[in-house]
Amino acid sequence: MFFKDVIGQQAIKDRLIQEVSEGRIPHAQLLCGSEGVGAFPLALAYARYISCSNPGQTDACGVCPSCVKYNKLVHPDLHFAFPIVKNAKRKRELCDDYIVEWRQLVLNNPYFNLNHWLNEIEAENSQAIIYAKESDEITKKLSLKSSEGGYKISIIWLPEKMHPVCANKLLKLLEEPPKKTVFLLVSEVPEMILPTILSRTQRINIRKIDEACIAETLQSRYGTLQADSLSIAHLANGNFIKALEAIHLNEENQLFFDLFVSLMRLSYQRKIREMKLWSDQVASMGREKQKNFLGYCQR
Ligand SMILES: [Zn+2]
Repeated sequence: MFFKDVIGQQAIKDRLIQEVSEGRIPHAQLLCGSEGVGAFPLALAYARYISCSNPGQTDACGVCPSCVKYNKLVHPDLHFAFPIVKNAKRKRELCDDYIVEWRQLVLNNPYFNLNHWLNEIEAENSQAIIYAKESDEITKKLSLKSSEGGYKISIIWLPEKMHPVCANKLLKLLEEPPKKTVFLLVSEVPEMILPTILSRTQRINIRKIDEACIAETLQSRYGTLQADSLSIAHLANGNFIKALEAIHLNEENQLFFDLFVSLMRLSYQRKIREMKLWSDQVASMGREKQKNFLGYCQR
C-alpha cells in the first residue's frame, strides 16, 4: 500500500507526509473515518512512508529493504492488532495466530470491513474483540529494540473493540511510550474509545472520498464504464467498499440473468442434455451464490 493507492484524501496525505519530512511524527495518532473511506489504507501507506529509507516527496520509494518487506507486510517493526474470535481448538488466541489470513486480506484489498475480516477467518456471526492478552503482546513487541533501527509501528485496527483490560494497558503505553514507536489507531466509532485514550492521541478525521476520485478509480482499476462508474460513485456516498459491492452485484446480476434466460430457452426447446449441463454448472457454484440465484429467479 502506497499513498498513490489510497483513493482521494489528498489533504490528509499531504499532512502526513509533511509530518514525516519535518521530523515531527506524533507518537500516537487516531485516524477516524467511517467504513470505506480509507482510514486503514492511509495508516498503512503512512507506516510504509515512515519506515522507508529513501522516501520521495509524495510517496515511499518502493525498492529499499524496508519497502520490499512492506510489500508482503512482513517488516519486523510493523505490528498489527485487530479484533479476533478466540478458537481454543485450533489454539488461536492472539492476533499473530491469524496473521496469515490478515496479510492475505490486506494485500488482496485494503478496503475491507469487519464482516469481510470475519468471513476471512470463518467467524461470521461471532463477536470479535481485541482480547486482554493482546496488550501484553503489544507491550512485548514494542519493548524490543527495533530490528532495523527505525521506528516501531503498531497499527491497531478498530480500537473500539478492545477489551477494557487491553485498553487500560494500552493507555499506560501511550502515557509512557517506548522510544521511537508510533501508534496508529484506526477507528470507525471513536465515541466508543476510552476518553483517556482519546486525549492522548492526535486525532485525524477522515471524510468521505470524493465522488470523482471513486469514479476514476472504478474506471482505471476495475474497467467500469464511465457512465456506470459515475452512478455507482454517486450511490456509494464516499464509501469505496460500497462502490466495490455495487460492481460485484452488477457482475452477479449479469450472470444470473444469463443463467435464467438459458434455462428458459433450454426448457422451451426440451433440450434435456443441455439442461443437465446447466444444472451441473449451477451445482458447482457454491451455496451462497445458489441461494442468491434462487432469490434472483423468484424476483
Ligand atoms: Zn522505501
